[in-house]
Amino acid sequence: MEPSAWPVPPPFMWQCTRCTDLLQQVILHAITAAGSGSFAEQLTLARHIVADHPDDVPGPHGADCSLCTHYAKHGDVDLWEEHRARDLFMPARAARRM
Ligand SMILES: [Zn+2]
Ligand SMILES: [Zn+2]
Repeated sequence: MEPSAWPVPPPFMWQCTRCTDLLQQVILHAITAAGSGSFAEQLTLARHIVADHPDDVPGPHGADCSLCTHYAKHGDVDLWEEHRARDLFMPARAARRM
């Protein structure tokens, strides 16, 4: 996948009203603010996925992801899961920056 391309969200997100609501805001914000103003929505959506869809959070990215390496070492489990959840709905390049 092109690292800057927006992924197609997985089916579980389309079956959840909260996911689709937040996803619409993230995408709308990304389009209208050129990707710079959607931080709050991204955070809310990532938190919601970790809290309500824990089984759907992707696994760690591995040693080539500096943030996964950091979180694994420092034990920030919640932040780590939110970091991985962003992969589901954001371009990998942007998702792995935080
Ligand atoms: Zn949801
Ligand atoms: Zn990572």
